Amino acid sequence: MNLLKEVDIAVIGAGPAGLAAALACAEAGASTLLIDANDVPGGQLVKQTHKFFGSERQHAGTRGIQIPELFAKKLVEHPNVETMWDTTASGYYDSGELVVEDGKRFIKILPKRLIVSTGASERFVLFENNDLPGVYGAGAVQTLMNVYGVVPGDRVLMVGSGNIGLIVSYQLIQAGVDVAAVIEAAPCIGGYLVHAAKLRRAGVPILTSHTIVAAHGEECVTGATIAKVDEKWQAIPGTECEIECDVICLAVGLMPLVDILWQAGCEMKYVPELGGHVPVRDDNMRTSNPNVYVAGDSGGVEEASSAMITGEIAGISAAESLGLKAPEADARLAQLKADLAAIRSGPAGEKICAGVCRATVCGGVWE
Ligand SMILES: Cc1cc2nc3c(=O)[nH]c(=O)nc-3n(C[C@H](O)[C@H](O)[C@H](O)COP(=O)(O)OP(=O)(O)OC[C@H]3O[C@@H](n4cnc5c(N)ncnc54)[C@H](O)[C@@H]3O)c2cc1C
Repeated sequence: MNLLKEVDIAVIGAGPAGLAAALACAEAGASTLLIDANDVPGGQLVKQTHKFFGSERQHAGTRGIQIPELFAKKLVEHPNVETMWDTTASGYYDSGELVVEDGKRFIKILPKRLIVSTGASERFVLFENNDLPGVYGAGAVQTLMNVYGVVPGDRVLMVGSGNIGLIVSYQLIQAGVDVAAVIEAAPCIGGYLVHAAKLRRAGVPILTSHTIVAAHGEECVTGATIAKVDEKWQAIPGTECEIECDVICLAVGLMPLVDILWQAGCEMKYVPELGGHVPVRDDNMRTSNPNVYVAGDSGGVEEASSAMITGEIAGISAAESLGLKAPEADARLAQLKADLAAIRSGPAGEKICAGVCRATVCGGVWE
């Protein structure tokens, strides 16, 4: 194992949260190491070709794929920042050592503070034949189409009507793929109605209170059986119908990626409103391990706007805990917290606010 060096702050994950966090750390004067398993910065943003919703101060209206460039340019030029791409953080030890692996070797890093912004992973659904080729997660479909220019098939059944299911369905249509239907187990559409309206105008049926029962096919998907569900989301016998399709795309939610936070001994809590287990944190994104901060979807599944804000809050606060304070840091923190409250103030934010409240340490500060 090679010892790389000591740094003030290591940031794991260069999605919107990690990019914002690393820039804030560097601007405060901290030597900052930004690590990502991918070969380019951006996280989820590298496949988001649509114009982003969210807050204008956090680049709403800009295409997701263009946002990483806005950060990358500043980061590359910043003397306090070092980056490691194609590098996976695999272990964080009681001694405060972070072990990363770049495909050739394991490297030991000694950060004084760690910011975990590893994002989220996709959920799956149980149904007959769900391991047939042709059953994809929505992230894989987006990566195929928007990163590699490959369509996943000719006719897709989309499972899930949250923003991801709706946006990916529309992107499939734009790529010339037929979307047979979007099905949703809940009694109402989960995503923004503006996205649903675009699909409806394109003639795609959105069937609420429906689930997938089975995929058909021997070598690959040739169709699916769907059925209506009762209030407990159980398929109602006799309501089944067949859908012809060669792709079943699952967009049924995300789960925070928190392995490193468990390893760091952070106090964790199951908060369904935030997508699963998340670390208990204070208002400055500091976890119960005083050397470890969390930012973005790994602290609770939200959106890129809130990921950038929590990233910057974590960056400013982690640097400040080392005695490094950016000019006007207090005013900036107050502004960021006000922006976050505004993003979470809409009807869609109610659930997030309830989750954040449960995940935040009593009184908003650690004793
Ligand atoms: C289809 C779709 C549409 C969306 N549309 C919008 C929108 O319009 N507006 C909006 O605000 N949000 C939108 N979002 C949500 C937004 O993309 C995410 O909330 C946001 O990307 C989360 O940012 P993050 O930095 O927390 O995580 P991510 O973007 O997921 O980045 C995490 C990074 O961590 C890296 N990583 C993970 N584990 C490790 C490890 N162990 N070692 C090293 N690196 C690691 C990953 O490679 C990745 O680059 C959309 C999401 C999807 C899927």
